Amino acid sequence: MNDFADIYDKVVKNKYDFGTGSWAVENDNIEMKFDKNGEYHPYQKNEQYQYTEDELNKLQQSCLSTSDLNESDIAKQLFSQVKGIKHDDDLGYYSDLYVGHVTEGDYRSNGSSGGFGTWILAQLLEKNEIDFVINVVESNKDDKLFEYSISDNLDGVKSGAKTKYYPVEFSEVINVLKENPGRYAIVGLPSFIMELRLLAEIDPVIKERLKFTVGLVCGHQKSTKFAEFLAWQCGIKPGDLQKINFRKKQTNYSADRYAIEVTGKVDGKEQTVVREMRDLIGNDWGQGFFKVRASDFTDDVMNETADITLGDAWLPEYTQDSKGNNIVIVRNPIIQKIIADGIRDNKLSVYVVDDKTIYRSQASHFKHTKYELAYRLFKKQKNHEWYPEKRVKPSSNLSWTRKRIQDQREKICHDIPEYYQEALSKNDIQYFIDQANKLSAKYKRIYLGKRIVSKLQRMMHLKN
Ligand SMILES: Cc1cc2nc3c(=O)[nH]c(=O)nc-3n(C[C@H](O)[C@H](O)[C@H](O)COP(=O)(O)OP(=O)(O)OC[C@H]3O[C@@H](n4cnc5c(N)ncnc54)[C@H](O)[C@@H]3O)c2cc1C
Repeated sequence: MNDFADIYDKVVKNKYDFGTGSWAVENDNIEMKFDKNGEYHPYQKNEQYQYTEDELNKLQQSCLSTSDLNESDIAKQLFSQVKGIKHDDDLGYYSDLYVGHVTEGDYRSNGSSGGFGTWILAQLLEKNEIDFVINVVESNKDDKLFEYSISDNLDGVKSGAKTKYYPVEFSEVINVLKENPGRYAIVGLPSFIMELRLLAEIDPVIKERLKFTVGLVCGHQKSTKFAEFLAWQCGIKPGDLQKINFRKKQTNYSADRYAIEVTGKVDGKEQTVVREMRDLIGNDWGQGFFKVRASDFTDDVMNETADITLGDAWLPEYTQDSKGNNIVIVRNPIIQKIIADGIRDNKLSVYVVDDKTIYRSQASHFKHTKYELAYRLFKKQKNHEWYPEKRVKPSSNLSWTRKRIQDQREKICHDIPEYYQEALSKNDIQYFIDQANKLSAKYKRIYLGKRIVSKLQRMMHLKN
């Protein structure tokens, strides 16, 4: 058996830790705190604490990067027996696939995409399938803008609407769940839902009380500095940001042309500023500014262990509608029935779609997160570094340019927080922008080179 330092170094120091809070649920000596880069990580309360073998084993088994079980194992346990369920290597299990939105009430206008996230939680509560909802709401604590929270009423559910590109952790709320009997539903990113499933394998109380999981698709997790830097570009200095809406819909534009709305002090006066996301540095998800590195070491694009998975319908035929649409993957029969009833009662407007349509909506996400993970793992293997076992296996079978793109994404992920720290200490946003622009320029040159090579190849092909 390894000792705590071994496990900690493997997972946390090597940046394979998703910051979910699972260790702080599993062990009282561990708490979640922000590091200087605004990422959540586990820390020991007492560094002299001696862990028993059982405790160490539970820490390993509750962590996605060291568990013996992967997403396919868990999903098989949960869903393979569901009547009529199908399976796809990329989407995982599914009963129904939809693209669409909520027509009932103000769920869609208050939501980031089609409003399904809040609606399904509200339905579970209304239909007495659960007693409590665990969602992400604005925090009134000084050190954070958002946090997981528990509520037992519609107002609480609705106050959690909207995507937060911001770190949260679930140890506090799951410890409350452990203390308070009831039926709970939670919404979360893939690594969060998976680590909850792993916790449920260890702790029968969690297994019994956590009745439903609503999964989000997640391009990658961001640190708190993402929000801080967006606001800084709007004139709100670090420390002065009070509120942020990452997904303000713009009536006259397509759904993917969303804006941010930030509130905070500008020159000493409280102001609210709206800026279109595409005008801000850091808008390119491919480049991944302020990405939490562990996000590059998951192969679960579609939140495969969640009862329902929701994402944005990033498809040209749907993005034209500024009001937004979801992709929906249903795995749980109770949720399947709620949605079928919602369609029948005109509370939902959806198209039944096929697996290819769902895949297409996240094509670049699959390419980076799942398929090119093989190359990221290959580099670890080549350098004789420890890496977590994934369903995707290490391979260098990737084109020269895609390798360079991956290399540059890794460099951006590594360098951005460092330049940002320097900019903070100099109180100089321009310093950060200049350094970030250099990283982006190199990234764009690789794409340009790729386009030129493809064009030349096409011309040669025509000649022959
Ligand atoms: C970090 C992040 C990255 C994402 N990346 C992608 C992507 O690449 N592709 C894609 O298609 N979709 C992505 N999404 C999901 C997408 O932005 C929408 O959240 C999703 O489509 C649901 O929208 P909605 O209108 O149905 O939900 P809403 O009605 O707006 O409800 C959203 C629900 O999600 C909860 N929530 C918000 N932020 C978080 C969070 N950080 N952690 C846990 N729960 C949260 C809210 O509390 C609420 O319950 C991402 C979401 C996040 C948080």
